Amino acid sequence: MLPSTTEMYRALVERDQSFEGLFFACVRTTGIFCRPTCRARKPKPENVEFAATIQDALHRGYRPCRVCEPMSAGVAAPNWLDPLLEEIRTHPDLRMRDHDLRVRGLDPVQVRRTFKRSFGMTFQAYQRACRLGTAMRALHEGSPTLDAGMDAGFESDSGFRAAFARVFGDTPGRARGSVLLSAMWIETPLGPMLAIAGDLGLELLEFVDRRALETELRELQRTLGAIVPGDHPILRQTRQQLREYFEGRRRAFDIPLNQRGSAFQLKAWRALCQIPYGETRSYSDMARDVGSPAAVRAIGRVNGQNRIAIVVPCHRVIRSDGSLCGYGGGRWRKQWLIDHERLKP
Ligand SMILES: [Zn+2]
Repeated sequence: MLPSTTEMYRALVERDQSFEGLFFACVRTTGIFCRPTCRARKPKPENVEFAATIQDALHRGYRPCRVCEPMSAGVAAPNWLDPLLEEIRTHPDLRMRDHDLRVRGLDPVQVRRTFKRSFGMTFQAYQRACRLGTAMRALHEGSPTLDAGMDAGFESDSGFRAAFARVFGDTPGRARGSVLLSAMWIETPLGPMLAIAGDLGLELLEFVDRRALETELRELQRTLGAIVPGDHPILRQTRQQLREYFEGRRRAFDIPLNQRGSAFQLKAWRALCQIPYGETRSYSDMARDVGSPAAVRAIGRVNGQNRIAIVVPCHRVIRSDGSLCGYGGGRWRKQWLIDHERLKP
């Protein structure tokens, strides 16, 4: 599957663009992984190992490089993909299917394979991430005033408003009077996350490529009111604590949560928060903890409905035989989180 080591090392040293997306270079001495074209100084051959995918590199415990950002979309892919990426970026509301790709002279199979390889996610997941990501990122990049005062930055950024409205199908003005939730884009070593909070607490924290995210957002909007990009003390707190968690400096979160669900859901989510950092539980353990030993299936389902990833640690629940099973953010992320907590006690 991978080109020869000699060939990859040559490509790495020469920053050969044609190898973008074909491999990632993992540097043993620094513990980071890079794109072939990274501008940073190249490692000695004996210190490099090569990974075919982002997941592969993450699974081996490497972190993405800050210089070439191998996990950020839009750069790693081969040149022929650029027009498509640009189109998705500028029209985040497009939902492209096989037919649309063929019309553009692209082979859907090849496109899907390339997305898997370059971005570590499916073409559909990439589009979902972009629908949200483009909107959120516009605020991030287009507003230098962001850190000083996010509100001012947001007010002045009508382009972002438009993009956000396209994604959410609602404008802040229309929702006057209803509860306002603020949304923030948070970069993590596992890819960007979307955090949403209101005065009652953190409502949602999810990886932006999560399949259920759009549904969850619409549900939040329906029940609570408008979601607008912006700042909130709870969002800042979440961003700060997540950073500490990923740096291995935080084991527990103390962020006010506003979880809404049935009595059983709330009980199950509370039980999740009792699983200590670095440990795992099985689904039957969890069912016993909430007093319904027979409810193993229900526990699995309720875990999947958790909207606050990482902070409510549903990633700490595994099968009785120790194997991982589904995780909303993808199984590779679950593995990464479990390993992270074991390695950074
Ligand atoms: Zn790099």
